[in-house]
Amino acid sequence: MVDQLLREEVVSARRIVVKVGSSSLTTAAGGLDADRVDALVDALAKVRTGKDAPEIVLVSSGAIAAGLAPLGLEKRPKDLARQQAAASVGQGLLVARYTASFARYGVRVGQVLLTAEDASRRAHYRNAFRTLEQLLTMGAMPIVNENDTVATAEIRFGDNDRLAALVAHLVRADLLVLLSDVDGLYDGDPAKPGSSRLDVVRGPADLLGVEVGSAGKAGVGTGGMVTKVEAARIATGAGIPVVLTAASQAADALAGRRTGTLFLRTGSRSADRLLWLEHASTPRGTLTLDDGAVAAVVHGGKSLLPAGVTGVEGEFVAGDPVDLLGENGHIVARGLVNFDARELPRLLGRSTRDLAQELGAAYEREVVHRDDLVVLCG
Ligand code: GLU
Repeated sequence: MVDQLLREEVVSARRIVVKVGSSSLTTAAGGLDADRVDALVDALAKVRTGKDAPEIVLVSSGAIAAGLAPLGLEKRPKDLARQQAAASVGQGLLVARYTASFARYGVRVGQVLLTAEDASRRAHYRNAFRTLEQLLTMGAMPIVNENDTVATAEIRFGDNDRLAALVAHLVRADLLVLLSDVDGLYDGDPAKPGSSRLDVVRGPADLLGVEVGSAGKAGVGTGGMVTKVEAARIATGAGIPVVLTAASQAADALAGRRTGTLFLRTGSRSADRLLWLEHASTPRGTLTLDDGAVAAVVHGGKSLLPAGVTGVEGEFVAGDPVDLLGENGHIVARGLVNFDARELPRLLGRSTRDLAQELGAAYEREVVHRDDLVVLCG
């Protein structure tokens, strides 16, 4: 049963996002392990060469880990500035390693660095999508990582598991393969006897009682099982099944052979970018809505107009994500705002028609357009 499910999901996938973690690419002593990179590349290259081969987008961590030794750092630093310095040195080394390794198969690689902001701003989102599509069309292998050097603490994806789930959604992948140093999701600590691996997760109910732990095993990456399960939740909710397994079993996973844990899709595929807004954006401010506006936005599928806004907080500019709150302070939605924070106060409570007459047609726009908001309650 599981074998069949797995085969069907994998073999029918035309576009696959494969994510590999730092600990699967580095040596115990730290630094990139060329043999492990080659082994992964062998598995990926094999999939790409067959007839009707699926397209692959690789999301790879390892920048920080690869930059430690060259900078004389013994372990992953705690502060963001040194992590960023390590990522800056390591990202080049990582991509150089992949470039050399894929060249053995005549495959070009293209580096794509994304920030959480790229995930929620429409123009950035579209550009990222276009670049990834173009690389795939031209037969190149996109290698995605978080743009660690520019992301600040507040706007970081933080872990590449989540980034991979969002990239899978962005490129409309049919499958997400998460490669880790553990060969699947266990119902307890995999190192302890008595824990067993879950072959299939059909939905949140199957995860009840599963201890996902907190930290990454090898200490060089940021993900543990928590981030993998969260990534699986995001992807499956967006209609993308997930296989979680060990990097050493990548070839089996990509051939649809039984390995790891298969998470079945729980939601339907949607082509919109709002998943990014919900999961990747950090709100830059809040707008408080009166009851009528809450009802219109939450239940009526309507845009938010100035007349329904009673309060503004935060420093944001047009295009930023903001949370929409009810009068009781609870978050009801998140959206991309069309005005700067300083422009809004004088518009509050006023009808768009009045505003247009007084201030010009540019003020006739919604505060948040319905296409740019995601309802979080109700
Ligand atoms: N972007 C980080 C890196 O390449 C890793 C984030 C993670 O471990 O998930 O080192």
